[in-house]
Amino acid sequence: MNLLLEGLREMLGAEPRRPAPEDYSEEARKLHAFKKTPEERERRRRMIAEELAHKKESFAWRKWRWPTIIVINLLFVISYHFDVQLVEGALTASRVLGFHFADLNSALQVMLAFKEVLINLLIGVTTVAILWWLVGGRSFCAWTCPYHLVSEWVEMLHLRLAAKGWARDIPLDRRLRTVLYVVFAALAFGTGYMVYEWISPVGILSRAIIYGTWISLGWIAVLLFIELFFVRRMWCRYMCPIGMTYSFIGATSPTVVHYDLEKCLHEGECRKVCLVPHVLEITKKGRATRPHIDIGADCTRCAMCIEACPTGALSFRIKGLDKLL
Ligand code: SF4
Ligand code: SF4
Repeated sequence: MNLLLEGLREMLGAEPRRPAPEDYSEEARKLHAFKKTPEERERRRRMIAEELAHKKESFAWRKWRWPTIIVINLLFVISYHFDVQLVEGALTASRVLGFHFADLNSALQVMLAFKEVLINLLIGVTTVAILWWLVGGRSFCAWTCPYHLVSEWVEMLHLRLAAKGWARDIPLDRRLRTVLYVVFAALAFGTGYMVYEWISPVGILSRAIIYGTWISLGWIAVLLFIELFFVRRMWCRYMCPIGMTYSFIGATSPTVVHYDLEKCLHEGECRKVCLVPHVLEITKKGRATRPHIDIGADCTRCAMCIEACPTGALSFRIKGLDKLL
């Protein structure tokens, strides 16, 4: 099984596949066999006891992630209101220190709508693609997107309401996002308008924060209402073409979340907190085909799983370098 292709297949909406016996490496097979022995039960007991004894707090990535999103978005506001030409524009298209930046999906929509390859846009797209490839592709979602932040706050509330039985999480078909991606591209090409931009919560929220166009926030309120009561993280999980574009970019990124089968107790704490739990299917008992695996393309590098894992089986890694943390 080619893990990169499998990650891309899952990103397009396919369900994770159960590996065939021949997919397992010898080392992974031995580890899985060991995990069924009495020695492993003893090792688990010891690991849990040690964890409880030390109960040291894992590194709180969220304390860095939330301020990062706020600061990046505030830079646009300050620049616009005080005419500091540090950053100009909005998240969909901007100039930072004179360099053109363009959101990949918005740039695609513009070029399809105008049926023209615009040089400035192409420069912006290339800069953005290289930058986000380096830091992990969909890390744009977890570390920059303002909608991610508000949706994350709503998710916290949703989980509380769901625990009381006042909210539900109705699963949707993940292929919906791929369909929407094609539909919006076709609409831009066919109509000459960037139809997606009218409903993109990323663009709407970014422009509202910078230019004060709060009247356009009704759509965001509708999305958040649905996410609060009916479908957990609906937009980011099942719909957003921007997230999908960055997943493509991140598929081969050097910055990844890394899984260590030996340290994993398979209790599933990581999958409970993950925006895209299908990428953590390998953490289920018997599913990892290698002792060390980099998490698939859809991962946003939000680090929630790293914080949630009680035994340090998940960590950030830059390919080719030693583990960062
Ligand atoms: S999926 Fe879309 S809305 Fe969600 S965080 Fe990513 S870019 Fe933002
Ligand atoms: S795998 Fe971990 S880092 Fe990636 S999206 Fe899920 S919780 Fe976040």
